[in-house]
Amino acid sequence: MKRAIYPGSFDPVTFGHLDIIRRSAGLCDHLIVAVLNNNNKTPLFSVDERVEMLKEATKDLANVEVASFSGLLVDFAKKNDVGVIIRGLRAVTDYEYELAMSQTNRVANPNIDTIFLNTSLEYAYLSSSIVREMAMYGGDITKFVPNCVVDKVYKKFKK
Ligand code: ADP
Repeated sequence: MKRAIYPGSFDPVTFGHLDIIRRSAGLCDHLIVAVLNNNNKTPLFSVDERVEMLKEATKDLANVEVASFSGLLVDFAKKNDVGVIIRGLRAVTDYEYELAMSQTNRVANPNIDTIFLNTSLEYAYLSSSIVREMAMYGGDITKFVPNCVVDKVYKKFKK
């Protein structure tokens, strides 16, 4: 596995994402963490903010690059000479959507495969939306996101 891509919204990056990043960076030569610029969603953080937070949180990982993309993932992967997509699976509820996505991507480009890493048990419940909801009501999010992200999330809800 030479070059792989780990796409997502990362709004914001959580310890669950970082666990998948760390583990997949150990499996490939070069990992591109790709932040989706999705026009249909109204995110809490801009794409640039999400990229910055990911860069800060992964700065100790030499073979990890952070980028953003819009449009089709398979097109972005092909342009970057990537043959493997990494996705994380938390529970069976993730499975149906992820299966359909990976099959769609294979129809779109049969040279690109998706590999699923299952979540580490301690992060099985964790999602960016849980973090946003906890922060909105003033809950403690230090167990969910890295230090460099904590205040940035609270700040969004202070306005
Ligand atoms: P998306 O909007 O594409 O689902 P997310 O940022 O929510 O983007 O997630 C990106 C990827 O990380 C997805 O494959 C998702 O299943 C995975 N993921 C999210 N949270 C966790 C977690 N706690 N443990 C393992 N994988 C996770």
